[in-house]
Amino acid sequence: MPGGVSSPVRAFRAVGGVPPVIASARGAELRDADGRVYIDLVGSFGPLILGHAHPTVVEAVARTARDGLTFGATCALEVELAERVLQRFPFAERVRFVSSGTEAVMSAVRLARGATGRSRIVKFEGCYHGHSDGLLVKAGSGLATFGTPTSAGVPPAIAELTHVLPLDDDQAVEALFARHGPEIAAVLIEPMPANAGLLLQRPEFLRRLRELTRRHGSLLILDEVISGFRVARGGMTEVLGIEPDLVTLGKILGGGMPAAAYLGRAELMERLAPNGPVYQAGTLSGNPVAMAAGIATLDLLETPGTYERLEELGARLQRGLERGLARAKVAGSVPRMGSVLWLVLQSGPAPRAWHQVDPAGAERYAPLFGELLRRGVWLAPSAFEVAFLSLAHTEALVDRVAAACEEALSAPHGVPAH
Ligand code: PMP
Repeated sequence: MPGGVSSPVRAFRAVGGVPPVIASARGAELRDADGRVYIDLVGSFGPLILGHAHPTVVEAVARTARDGLTFGATCALEVELAERVLQRFPFAERVRFVSSGTEAVMSAVRLARGATGRSRIVKFEGCYHGHSDGLLVKAGSGLATFGTPTSAGVPPAIAELTHVLPLDDDQAVEALFARHGPEIAAVLIEPMPANAGLLLQRPEFLRRLRELTRRHGSLLILDEVISGFRVARGGMTEVLGIEPDLVTLGKILGGGMPAAAYLGRAELMERLAPNGPVYQAGTLSGNPVAMAAGIATLDLLETPGTYERLEELGARLQRGLERGLARAKVAGSVPRMGSVLWLVLQSGPAPRAWHQVDPAGAERYAPLFGELLRRGVWLAPSAFEVAFLSLAHTEALVDRVAAACEEALSAPHGVPAH
């Protein structure tokens, strides 16, 4: 396994040290192969809003598995999950299930191109939308600069079709539309950008994207792979009260199993094969075991008070981390939305765009990460990943994390004050 991992974000390259191998997990805790237990603030990078191995989800998976692992035909559970998804995203009339967020976004972009007959797409610097060729692109700062590939192996001819703009910059979007409006198939954004830290956007900026795309006949794709079901039942789409053309979902949708989806109005979605000319398929799409985990998860999230609870826990951890930074006299801030937090190790206001993020934060983060790991707190091995809380976290666990963080920040090898 290159780098010892199946996905590069799991490696410890950026923070140093040897990554523990995980043996099992329950609730808010991970246990490694040597029996060490960690309070988990990664939650498998987003899906585990109920915590690890929730008994109801595990039971649904086991029960479903006994009736067959995959059919290669539509199953009743797909229909049930489709109904739940469409109920939570009322702008949409059709949903197509796939197995990963990458597939969902890649397919939504293909559909947008197929529907508009246009080729160019717009994404924002710092937003991650999976690893399909056209989306692994990060541009320089120029507003109409053509994308340059950030991964080897992406042909320039593909990268050129992806415009990358800074977040939080209305003018850059307006200027790009003024120049290329009639050629833009879609604007794609994480409405809660959480893949380069947490770059919370002004709602007016997101509304502006809606206006501009509508005016120019382009589609607006909200990538809610992280925010869907996380910040509210209906994700950021509900929070913002705007009507996108397509939404992509993943992570929580599969409750820890591989499931993702894209959804939209019938008029658009019916352009997909077998009804329309835009092709997209998958051997394991709508897999019954994944559907069962998703259904059980979404149903549990309907428990009254769920999102209030996540907000409460998030606010508590935010306060604890801010207190830790202040007491250790370390410059930083803790932007947060509900149960998603980012520990920013730089002075000044929390950044809203990638160019405002100080790369030196990574050097400050590495020793902190090590100190916290030693104290049994599992954070992502990157300064630019967010932390996720779950309903399995308790006040006591959150307070332990905050106390460990304060200690780690004050430790001799901790983060230098600046
Ligand atoms: N979109 C967003 C917003 C994501 O955060 C991710 C994964 N972190 C993806 C797409 C890709 O999803 P997957 O890893 O399931 O392919």
